[in-house]
Amino acid sequence: MSEGEGERARVAPAAAGDDCARVRAGGTVAAGGSAVGGRGASGGTARSAQARDRADLGHEQATAMLADLRRTLLDRFGTSDEAVLDPGLLSGTRPDPARRATGALVVPVRFHVVHSGGSGRLSTAAVQRQIATLNAAYGGRLGGADTHVRFRLDSLDRTDNPAWFRSPQRYEGPMKRRLRKGGRGTLNLYTAAVGSDVLGFSTFPQWYRRDPRLDGVIVDFRSLPYGSYAPFNHGFTAVHEIGHWLGLMHTFEGGCVSPGDGVADTPYEAEPAQGCPQGRDSCPQRGRDPIHNFMDYAHDACMRGFTAGQGRRIRAAWAAYRSRKTGGHRGDLGTAAPGAARSVGAAR
Ligand SMILES: [Zn+2]
Repeated sequence: MSEGEGERARVAPAAAGDDCARVRAGGTVAAGGSAVGGRGASGGTARSAQARDRADLGHEQATAMLADLRRTLLDRFGTSDEAVLDPGLLSGTRPDPARRATGALVVPVRFHVVHSGGSGRLSTAAVQRQIATLNAAYGGRLGGADTHVRFRLDSLDRTDNPAWFRSPQRYEGPMKRRLRKGGRGTLNLYTAAVGSDVLGFSTFPQWYRRDPRLDGVIVDFRSLPYGSYAPFNHGFTAVHEIGHWLGLMHTFEGGCVSPGDGVADTPYEAEPAQGCPQGRDSCPQRGRDPIHNFMDYAHDACMRGFTAGQGRRIRAAWAAYRSRKTGGHRGDLGTAAPGAARSVGAAR
């Protein structure tokens, strides 16, 4: 069995549909009671004992989600070619009001700290460091491409709820129904004690239509910058999970089998990177494994950036699913000039 086939075999397509989760290490991850489970191709949660990640979408679900994006773009803009769309998305003549001020796509963040007494009760400074880390990562300041996405902390609330804090997967539904704010273009970011294996989980933009109330990202409070989850404590778990929220799949999605993550400039990869396996080249296709990519599983110290293609994917997915103009008509492209982009929040 090749590594690629092993990756694909690990999760049956029928098991797809759970939240996307980043795992802390190579350990077994229980499927948990994710509320997203019922929204995928099936509600099944069965996974092999080797499953490292509830996030593996499986070939059927991944290709269906990519097809949904293409269909939505074609319907709205007359083309699904992201290279053709992107200049318009970056310099559209009808800028989204949310972007006009900065030239970047500015994502409003509603930050929800769920804690149990003093446990997990993050300081405002810790939250602001996470936002700054998001802006550094998505701005390409840690080594990758500038995605032209920025994040703005719009609100911060704290909820003392020991059950939600200890079992955010189990209580995902009631927790989000209570705390979630805003619409399709608002990032609701929750922190809780996600677990010892899974570091976080997220919904995809393709899922918004089905259940908008579950839209959002949950990360372990110890994964924030200077948190206690070394070597996953640079704040890159939120960077990774928000990548899913913005429409990116894992770089190892589908292993060596087309379409992989559906992004042309992220080389195929047979399986997730653990640690920092320098020089690894696990697939016959061109390019070494993208182990430094935020959408892989390497240690935070190994993670550096997104690719230009991932930036285009994010902007296309935003236009398709999260723009204020989503649901509008053809030609509703919009951002301001990319040269005017600046980060929101403090530099790292
Ligand atoms: Zn993931």
